Amino acid sequence: MNCTRLGLSLLLLTALGCTAEEHGSEGSSHPKREGPGHSHWSYADKAQWKTDFPDCGGQMQSPINIDTNSTMYSRELQAIVLSGSNLDPSKRLGLMNNGHTVVLRLPESLTITDGYPQEYRAMQLHFHWGSPQGPGSEHTVDGHRYDGEIHVVYYNPRYNSIKQAMTQPDGLAVLAAFLQVGPEKNTHYQPLLEQLHEVQETGEETTVAGFNIRGLLPSNLDRYYRYRGSLTTPPCYQTVNWTVFNQTVLLSQEQLSVLETTLQGEDDEVLQNNFRLPQPLHGRGVLASFQAAVSPRRVPLPDSEQLGSSLHTGDVLAILFGILFAVTALAFLIYIYKQRSQSRRPDSHTKPNVIYTAATPEENMG
Ligand SMILES: [Zn+2]
Repeated sequence: MNCTRLGLSLLLLTALGCTAEEHGSEGSSHPKREGPGHSHWSYADKAQWKTDFPDCGGQMQSPINIDTNSTMYSRELQAIVLSGSNLDPSKRLGLMNNGHTVVLRLPESLTITDGYPQEYRAMQLHFHWGSPQGPGSEHTVDGHRYDGEIHVVYYNPRYNSIKQAMTQPDGLAVLAAFLQVGPEKNTHYQPLLEQLHEVQETGEETTVAGFNIRGLLPSNLDRYYRYRGSLTTPPCYQTVNWTVFNQTVLLSQEQLSVLETTLQGEDDEVLQNNFRLPQPLHGRGVLASFQAAVSPRRVPLPDSEQLGSSLHTGDVLAILFGILFAVTALAFLIYIYKQRSQSRRPDSHTKPNVIYTAATPEENMG
């Protein structure tokens, strides 16, 4: 079974490595406001994005629905390790309402040092949410949408600029985690949420004292899904190596409400439902850094929830082949048994043990 899995994983990794795409277009960085020459976009006209931003109609778009039954375990995926996350309060971080979300600018000293083939440096983090009427995560898991989602955006420092990195296949990495209502206030989120009202209107900026950015992410960074996708807003560049954590982040209902009701969008209405719907996979594979437990399907933890887990493709194949083998072996044994029985009774056709009497012609005519 391990061999089967290893083989399939290698095939998938090879396929993933061959999906490099070139991008000729230029644009503003996600999710900053559109630069000169760029069209206005909004969540109300998602279907029109590809008109002004061709990549938005591409074959490797994000977000996606993660079908946990179709993910493939890869032992190559090591735990995500972050460095430089605990920022001194004397360090001021820019916080901005860009009309589509709230963005916290991050210093490049924050890095991902393990969990990817190369190091990535931080750019910014931002959020996606719904409204008091409904959830608003971008990724979904087995069709389930979570209350919200945090995206921490990183770029590959081997490129000269962030702008250049954004158009390269290995240019960007985004760490994503689902936000979910829990019983307690999440103290790690307080520095951000307490100042959210300072950037209520589109374009407003303020600064936040440095804090431990690591606290915004789940405690467990070992278990995650990995796939190749895109920015989830225009210009939708297909250059993001996604990590979607299995463990969710819990906020209190009050904290989530602050996120859902404080900011205004470009139309001066409350900024809500700033999420894109899941995009087609077009044959892309989704890797998992962990082997899912067979049961129970959902394992609640004290301070978080594990996302749905179930049998992997490798397990299903192993079971199918096992059943197939058992059936074939049984059929063969029955065949052998019949052959032996017949050879032991050479006269069985000529002299049957009749336990009935033949019907008379008269009886058969009725
Ligand atoms: Zn995002």
